[in-house]
Amino acid sequence: HPAPPAATTASICCYCGTGCGVRVHTEGGRVTGVSGDASHPSSLGKLCSKGRALADTVRDDGARVLRAQWRDSRAAPRRDIALDAALDLAADRLADIIGRHGPDAVAFYLSGQLLTEDYAVFNKLARGLVGTNNIDTNSRLCMSSAVAGYKLTLGADAPPACYDDIGLADTVLIAGSNAAHAHPILFRRLEAAKQARPDMRIILVDPRRTDTAELADLHLPILPGSDVALFHAMLHVMQDEGLLDHAHIARHTTGFAALRERIAACPPALAQDICGVPAADIATAARWFGRAGAALSLYTMGLNQSSSGTAKNAALIHLHLATGQIGKPGAGPFSLTGQPNAMGGREAGGMATLLPGHRDPADAGHRAEVAALWGVEQLPVRPGLPALEMFEALHDGRIKAIWIAATNPAQSLPDQARVRAALARAELVIVQEAYTGGETLDYADLVLPAATWPEKEGTVTNSERRISRVRAAIVAPGDARSDWRLAAGVAQRLAARIAPARAALFAYPDEAAVFAEHAASTAGRDLDYSALTYRILDELGPQQWPYRPGQPPSRRLYADGIYATADGRARFVAVDHAPVAEPVTADYPLRLTTGRLRDHWHSLARTALSPSLVRHVEAPWLSLHPDDMRELGVAEDALAVLRSRRGEVVLPARADASLRRGQAWLPMHWGSAFMAGDGINALTNPARDPVSRQPELKHCAIAVTPA
Ligand code: SF4
Repeated sequence: HPAPPAATTASICCYCGTGCGVRVHTEGGRVTGVSGDASHPSSLGKLCSKGRALADTVRDDGARVLRAQWRDSRAAPRRDIALDAALDLAADRLADIIGRHGPDAVAFYLSGQLLTEDYAVFNKLARGLVGTNNIDTNSRLCMSSAVAGYKLTLGADAPPACYDDIGLADTVLIAGSNAAHAHPILFRRLEAAKQARPDMRIILVDPRRTDTAELADLHLPILPGSDVALFHAMLHVMQDEGLLDHAHIARHTTGFAALRERIAACPPALAQDICGVPAADIATAARWFGRAGAALSLYTMGLNQSSSGTAKNAALIHLHLATGQIGKPGAGPFSLTGQPNAMGGREAGGMATLLPGHRDPADAGHRAEVAALWGVEQLPVRPGLPALEMFEALHDGRIKAIWIAATNPAQSLPDQARVRAALARAELVIVQEAYTGGETLDYADLVLPAATWPEKEGTVTNSERRISRVRAAIVAPGDARSDWRLAAGVAQRLAARIAPARAALFAYPDEAAVFAEHAASTAGRDLDYSALTYRILDELGPQQWPYRPGQPPSRRLYADGIYATADGRARFVAVDHAPVAEPVTADYPLRLTTGRLRDHWHSLARTALSPSLVRHVEAPWLSLHPDDMRELGVAEDALAVLRSRRGEVVLPARADASLRRGQAWLPMHWGSAFMAGDGINALTNPARDPVSRQPELKHCAIAVTPA
């Protein structure tokens, strides 16, 4: 074939949930560069260092999984096999396990990196063919507390604000987010807004003094886990000083009376002791928020990755409901999505606790609606297992087979020793993967070669509910195929073995057909974009949901004061402060928190391929307060042993005065593929939130000694 001519393809950056528009430049079938797409309304042509370096990560060599692989036993090496044979093998093995142990012996562990179309097909495969709700994703580690917080208070999993609100806010409360590193393009919007309006107030709530703190007018370096007490105390001040919007509370909410008792019991003087920040600073934050013409909150993993993440989200949303700071320009509680398409995954219902169109698998009516949409008799009733419970069930033999796509649990889940033992015990591990560097591949019996950015077609939804087209700029190398095509290929073969009539359920001609079926599932729901098509997205560009043709764009929700609850009223939830799951002790006296670096992404599979990104930070280290280093006898850059109740790692230590005494910090990105041992998550705690089931990756107790 003649080489394709030079071309430019509009698509979306594949890293964070900001969802920046990119233009992928190609020549001769190869990517020659990536630039920002000025026509994309979410990013206006800007890209951060990761987005700009995307071209470095496009590979067709040994860094990529190019062929399917199989091994007959764990003792044998994997060998390359034809893709069709691999899909047959997957179907054979799954049919056998379902036949012997039932559908709940099979589980699917997916990823916020997948496109909405991938999620939709996997979800139909799990629930509509296999007959199990055991489908969950790494979004369980990321946004599930935000989901639970929105649903409890506002009635739907729907971020109510939009990116333009960053430029319109008078006060911005950033909680548990180092946006300067994790969402750089949104942070640049904030920098520009602050420059244009220096009287804008920025409050940062974060145990560390991060780069984000440099922009803040007030930094509250709270002790990990104390957010609920802080937000309650802020409301206490607002109530005392007449800063609450009682008309909004009376007309548009329920439950304030019960919450008021908690607020009354949490004055700033008490919160000072719980949070470890001065009462006067808590009062200042409350006044800036309560007196603002428009107050916006930006928040992410510091609230979510917590054993009380749902309560933290609800307590922050209370600030907005009690002051009427929602549904108007520059205002609202605005969760910043970690992954590029965690939102789309939630819309497609690709989690144990969700069904398509923001439906609930525990609701018989919702199950019947989805069954009718898919053309199956019924959906499974037994609740599915969220991520950590899924790996526990794998460990104790209740789950025999797990199919992992576009994620790396042998790096990213807490308590790695347990996770790896679970994978080692599994009867069948299928890993669908694009890159060869991931730790989870070590446990794969069957490897399916996945296409990745910029080889895939589909859609993603970013943090401001904006759906964009992701487009293929080049052909995937080797036998790699889009994730949904691999899922559909196995599904058709599996149907032939266990339910032949259902093979037709997966006969999609292309991504547009998958999207059309998925979009139809949103009809009449809070996110309704049933009228949206690929043609509209191609002609009109990215669109926010809900999408109502002929009506103004859905920039912000709840402007009419009607919430997505049964009675139209938002709910205050009587949440209490709860301490971290693993308090420090004499044996484990340091509080470990973890976080992102600006130039790396997740478990490094992609960013480690870019020389410019690797140059920024090449290896992990332990940050400690200088006084703690002296007391522990750990010298600068000397190796230190970090121990938690679950494991240990050895890393060089560095003095870091941005931490308070007694605190330690690690970058989250390194697993066993890039450092000795089981990686950073050998240490972290699998304790999880009782509602969202999100683990407390942000805190555990450790001991540090010189190596
Ligand atoms: Fe990509 Fe996020 Fe950077 Fe935008 S901010 S370029 S989406 S990593």
